[in-house]
Amino acid sequence: MNFDFDAETEDMRDMVVRFARRELDPPRDFASLDDDGADFRRRWRLAGKQGLVGTTVPDEHGGSGLDAVAAAAAMEALGYGCSDTGFAFSVAAHLFAGVMPVVEFGTEAQKKEWLPALASGEAIAAHAVTEPEAGSDALRLRTRARRQGDTYVLNGTKCFTTNAPVADLFVVQAATAPEGGFFGLTTFLVRAGTPGLTVGRPYDKVGLRGSPTADVHLEDCVVPAESVLGTEGSGAGVFSASMKWERTCLFAAYLGAMRRVLESTVEHARQREQFGTPIGGFQAVSHRIVDMLGRYEAARLLLYRAAQALADGTADEIGPALAKVAVSEAAVQLGLDAVQLRGALGVLDGEAELLLRDALPARIFSGTNEIQKNNVARALGLGARRPRRRR
Ligand SMILES: Cc1cc2nc3c(=O)[nH]c(=O)nc-3n(C[C@H](O)[C@H](O)[C@H](O)COP(=O)(O)OP(=O)(O)OC[C@H]3O[C@@H](n4cnc5c(N)ncnc54)[C@H](O)[C@@H]3O)c2cc1C
Repeated sequence: MNFDFDAETEDMRDMVVRFARRELDPPRDFASLDDDGADFRRRWRLAGKQGLVGTTVPDEHGGSGLDAVAAAAAMEALGYGCSDTGFAFSVAAHLFAGVMPVVEFGTEAQKKEWLPALASGEAIAAHAVTEPEAGSDALRLRTRARRQGDTYVLNGTKCFTTNAPVADLFVVQAATAPEGGFFGLTTFLVRAGTPGLTVGRPYDKVGLRGSPTADVHLEDCVVPAESVLGTEGSGAGVFSASMKWERTCLFAAYLGAMRRVLESTVEHARQREQFGTPIGGFQAVSHRIVDMLGRYEAARLLLYRAAQALADGTADEIGPALAKVAVSEAAVQLGLDAVQLRGALGVLDGEAELLLRDALPARIFSGTNEIQKNNVARALGLGARRPRRRR
């Protein structure tokens, strides 16, 4: 067991932190940007030049070929250096839910067509699964894909699609066999601008405001049969694989954000004096900080253990789910504690309340924490038994 990064990964982390502080701060609200998202794209291209939006793309397709541990380290550094957690979240959603499915399931032609642009920052990806009637019950999609000769015709509405307002590539999950359950879904690569695909207005969210989110409407949207990612009926498999990446590596951005707020909270407790002494001298304050540190460290260990399993090809259902729950719950609690320890300053616009707002959605996206616990329980053989029929 070795808990240290190698020298190369440490250098990469320093580089990412310096870049993020220089180019990505301060946080921006997407909703307040001009509609074309020009500033978002400008910062995205800068992140692309640093290799940040293509960390896990193989070298031969223009990426850095990092494994899950190094990719998590890069995301953690981005979350630490960039106080705009929304932007870091958008990068992670692009990479782990949009790009990784193409890396893992794409044909050579699909990889050649998309990966170099997605890795360089020229193109942005979005993964559209959730629908107004299908959230946690993600296998029961109403979006339909009907085969018509050499094409498929897509109809349906997606909601809460991260990056939709700026996306060039939509990874869309649709039902090809509506009653087919796990094998009834198929994944499609749909280029932005395809007739029949339209994107709604960016949402006005309480957290992750730097990350653009919107509905995606598909109305008789015709795509060639070569747009299928994987094979017809393998959509749920593609989705599950991408969720393993997301539940592990995406959440590393929150580790970085937690570390940043933890450090500034310790500094505040050292500097702020009441009753003639730094408030950090009061046990109620210092113990709260120690609990913050403990939660952060425990969540970090779970996340890197899941990342190592992903890198080794041994990831199961349990590791990523536990990491996701631990990081998101720790982030919310750390946000609450950081606000409390700043007193009235905590409710002013600042990094403590920002962490809290940015952490709230983390318990929901990538499958809610309740669903993660259901998944772990199932993996432990704790499924509910159907009641026996009385004779
Ligand atoms: C910021 C943000 C970004 C997102 N980005 C994307 C994206 O890029 N692409 C995408 O497709 N989706 C995205 N989502 C959507 C996200 O995946 C869904 O919100 C999530 O899966 C939950 O679905 P829901 O909101 O419909 O909640 P519901 O499924 O309606 O759940 C409501 C509540 O009921 C609970 N619940 C439901 N079923 C059960 C059960 N069986 N057992 C116990 N509790 C249960 C849930 O845990 C939750 O507390 C995003 C969401 C957010 C907030």
